[in-house]
Amino acid sequence: MTDKLTSFDPATGEEIGTLEVTGPADVAATVERGRTAFAVWKTTSFAERKRLVMAAREVLLAEMESVANLISRESGKPVAEALSMEIAPVLDLMQHFARNAEKLLAPRKISIGLYALLGRSSKVVYHPLGVVGIIPAWNYPFSIPLGEAVMALMAGNTVVIKPSELTPFIGLKIVEIFEKAGFPKDTVQAVTGGGETGAALVEAAPDKIMFTGSVATGRKIAAAAAKNLTSVVLELGGKDPMVVFADADLPLAAKAAVWGAFCNAGQSCSSVERLYVEAAAAEKLTKLIVDETMTLRQGVGVDEEVSVGAMSSERQIKIVEDHVEDFRRAGAKIETGGRRKDETLFYEPTVITGATNEMLGMSEETFGPTLPIATFETEAEATELANDSEFGLTASVWSGDRRKARRVAERIEAGTVTINEVLYTHGIGQTPWGGFKNSGRGRTHGAEGLMELVQPQHIHENLLPILPDAWWMPYSANAVKTFRGFATKFASGSILKTATLAPQLLKRIFELRKKN
Ligand code: NAD
Repeated sequence: MTDKLTSFDPATGEEIGTLEVTGPADVAATVERGRTAFAVWKTTSFAERKRLVMAAREVLLAEMESVANLISRESGKPVAEALSMEIAPVLDLMQHFARNAEKLLAPRKISIGLYALLGRSSKVVYHPLGVVGIIPAWNYPFSIPLGEAVMALMAGNTVVIKPSELTPFIGLKIVEIFEKAGFPKDTVQAVTGGGETGAALVEAAPDKIMFTGSVATGRKIAAAAAKNLTSVVLELGGKDPMVVFADADLPLAAKAAVWGAFCNAGQSCSSVERLYVEAAAAEKLTKLIVDETMTLRQGVGVDEEVSVGAMSSERQIKIVEDHVEDFRRAGAKIETGGRRKDETLFYEPTVITGATNEMLGMSEETFGPTLPIATFETEAEATELANDSEFGLTASVWSGDRRKARRVAERIEAGTVTINEVLYTHGIGQTPWGGFKNSGRGRTHGAEGLMELVQPQHIHENLLPILPDAWWMPYSANAVKTFRGFATKFASGSILKTATLAPQLLKRIFELRKKN
């Protein structure tokens, strides 16, 4: 009997639908079909790939309202965020990679220094990998897998998506969009189910895995992928700090903190999870943040006036409850919020003061609508507190002094640091995204992200194939003398020094020619 998976609206508990779990044999067969489709897809021109991705954009634009509604219902997020944080950014990503992938992946001549004097030339060409397995989380269930699929397809790969078990219908919608756009059969496929289906996808040995999720699952996937030497990009958790100096525009920083902490009910990998404010500005900033937080409307996401939606699952809200409880026990103060609404999955946006890095909610990822605030006295202390974490996904620095802000930004250990801005750069598909430390390995988005989806091939050419190379066999005392010259002169990179090697080099070449 086939297992079933039922998806629910976390805001209302209503059933979205039920579908079949893909068993391991079917997952393997799906990857095989993807491999067969790859043999043809990899030969298509960039112009053809661009035409199809732009057609998929049109399908999405035509269905935008119903897609936003589905995202809101299946994930619990406000429809406002389905549009602003998922659909609009991914539409931009689609046009960017459709138009620019050819340029970004164009063959590239490499400068090879003095080897060019020997009549040699090198270039790199980029080949697609094959089947890319995409295993996303539920928090941005549309834009993350769709964006990664577009990049993989533009690079000439085919795609198998295993959506999160909490948002399977959004995953199926992605495949439907590509189908309606006219993509060839099996270029984009989905398999559905939970962790076991994800594990079966890894086991089926695709040519790359793009994983987004928790550190714990990332470790399991990396270990399982190692068996087949499958390379993996890991986009993992975060505990992102926001550092606010007293000379920052505090009303602006307060608004940014509120959005950064509470958008998607705090369930963003790049949420503001820790706020460090310079002590002199702490009282003022806290008041601004609390006042702003109290204006937010929380409710069912399809209501267009709602700013904060439901959390995704019981498991997730339990973590938030535990962390807030720990803050209370440890003596921090709950300024506003701090509780779940009855038995629902709505957790009130919560502002906490008096937090320290020793508290649970300042070290482990909360992934919920909490904004704990701590203070610092000096620039060095701010950097130290921000870096005191196993994570390093994003961070932000707020100051009216740009030089100071840039200095601090470069000292923070995170894959992205924004200055006087917060959270949103995953929405800029043109820029690289990925973590330092336990926040991940590899990159998605940007030119760096596209490079994860190809394998570089080095083509090296001897443009003067008339003479033997001086380093070929047989060796002799004359050869060894030449190689000493290579080490001391040629390898210095200096043309002048290398020129003095010319007589010895000629002697050696004549020696090799004579021996032929
Ligand atoms: P998760 O690790 O529980 O699940 C992620 C995906 O992995 C799901 O599709 C799940 O079914 C699948 N999975 C589970 N076990 C598996 C296994 N053994 N083999 C293969 N696949 C398996 O994470 P989640 O709760 O869905 O997502 C929340 C986490 O994602 C947070 O830590 C968040 O920070 C992170 N996240 C990171 C980014 C980023 O860009 N760095 C973006 C979004 C979310």
